[in-house]
Amino acid sequence: MRLSVFQEQRTEGTRRTLRITETTDGRPIDIYFDFVGESFPEPFVLDGFVNAVIFYAMGTGQDIHVDGQMTRSSLLNLATVQEAWCRWKPDVYKLIKIEPQSITDDPPRAKTQSIAAFSGGADAIFTALRHAGDQFALNSVMLVHGFDIPINRPDQFSKLVERVQPFLDRLNLQPRIVRTNIAELRIQEWLDSFLAQLSCCLHSYSHEFRFGLTGGGEPYDELVLPWGQNPCTDYLLSGDGFTIVHDGAAFSRTEKIAIIAQDPVATKAIKVCWDAPDLSTNCGTCEKCVRTRLNFKAVGVDSPACFDGEITPEQIRRIRFSNDSQRAGFRSMKLANDRSWQSLRMIKSFFANRCCQMRCRRQARHLSRPRRMSDK
Ligand SMILES: [Zn+2]
Repeated sequence: MRLSVFQEQRTEGTRRTLRITETTDGRPIDIYFDFVGESFPEPFVLDGFVNAVIFYAMGTGQDIHVDGQMTRSSLLNLATVQEAWCRWKPDVYKLIKIEPQSITDDPPRAKTQSIAAFSGGADAIFTALRHAGDQFALNSVMLVHGFDIPINRPDQFSKLVERVQPFLDRLNLQPRIVRTNIAELRIQEWLDSFLAQLSCCLHSYSHEFRFGLTGGGEPYDELVLPWGQNPCTDYLLSGDGFTIVHDGAAFSRTEKIAIIAQDPVATKAIKVCWDAPDLSTNCGTCEKCVRTRLNFKAVGVDSPACFDGEITPEQIRRIRFSNDSQRAGFRSMKLANDRSWQSLRMIKSFFANRCCQMRCRRQARHLSRPRRMSDK
């Protein structure tokens, strides 16, 4: 397949179009990225755009001919990304070749400032709190419209921006907005590729920033693999001149919440839900909402301002896990509870039932193949 990028300046900002042609099924694909309110220079290298479709290429076994320049580090890194995913999912992905028109070792480098991907979730808020004003010199956050909130709901996206604005204002973080149809096209498995897609958006700011931060989910001692965002392969989405940083893996989700809970503005801004009819809000009852409410409860906060009312035992009983990342989130809460906090009756009764289920499932997985680092 052939990968080209076109840029145009529109009234509302810069549009970059990633065009895929010469695909095996003959179907061209146009992916747009609108950088709202921006006036970008032409991209010097296309590292990020290759990241954006690497899972599509590996999944369909198509080599990528890049109409443009890439950095040598990006090429080398993507070879290792492929090796990792072909090892994790040998039945799904194949090793492919990436052939740019030219390779550079020395792209222009921006000043040593950072931009962080920002969804409004606990991991993103923790990363913002931690790095605003430290050695990463974080001064901007990137919100993507088209990932958690669909393109056809601009009203909900505006409400999300409104929701997090007081938090960003307090930390002097400038919101930068990207709108893209890449997730909506569903050309690759979202749970494997979401961070690679996100990294493409971050790379587009490489003329201004040296580092693109992403708040990771599971801590180093509870990694879930394979998973689209992890500290093994996230850094390999970097190129010369722009580094993707997997941030926060030294902390469990409960430990992150313990820090966020000390900040009322940050607590009010948190938006974790993917199930609410209005995606700028938290439904309070889905797995992610209940898990987050239990995280707060574990650190002594019964009614955090990001949720209405108090959690009920019935809401906890109704939780069903659909992936290993969710299980790990609950497990980390139990570890924190065991280590640092005295008994919270609701959490303990939850784990009395759920940990038994998790152990059984984990043992069953042991017999098939290792999935988590700690299982190996
Ligand atoms: Zn929810």
